[in-house]
Amino acid sequence: MLAAVSSEFGPQFPKLAAGLASGVPDLDSVERALRDSSLGGGATALKMLFEQFDKALPPPECARCGKPMCRHRAGKKRVWLTRLGRVEIERSYYYCRSCGNGCFPLDRALGLESSTIIPGMASVVAETTPMMSFDAASGHIANLAGLNASSSSLQRWSPGARRGCSPFRARGGRRG
Ligand SMILES: [Zn+2]
Repeated sequence: MLAAVSSEFGPQFPKLAAGLASGVPDLDSVERALRDSSLGGGATALKMLFEQFDKALPPPECARCGKPMCRHRAGKKRVWLTRLGRVEIERSYYYCRSCGNGCFPLDRALGLESSTIIPGMASVVAETTPMMSFDAASGHIANLAGLNASSSSLQRWSPGARRGCSPFRARGGRRG
């Protein structure tokens, strides 16, 4: 356990320790640096879990014609935005020799066929964006959760914005 902690954080220690001892310690930077490392480690673990799950899924049957599907030699990449940051997965792609249909069993098993953001992160966006401008929400999410989500991405992901009726935008102003 100690080895895992020291390999994740160890390389930063000399610089962080020097910063603390400099006479004008920047605690905010120290906390942010360590939080980024924590999130990075979590994102790597999530990627490993997803890829392990993908490998364990049985070959699917074609949803269109019911025939067994064939696994494509190369996996295909996809990025999801999670509470731990961006997670890039290379998952299996299957295709049907009979009708040409294709599918990603992992996306289906996780219920993420059509979404770029994972439900936990979607709830962060949904709770934040109705209360402030997308610019302010972007800064707020970065400060509280350490996640980089640009204001244009938030605009795209916000449920209200998708319906064209974000309460903030409807008032026609921008805060913060
Ligand atoms: Zn088929």
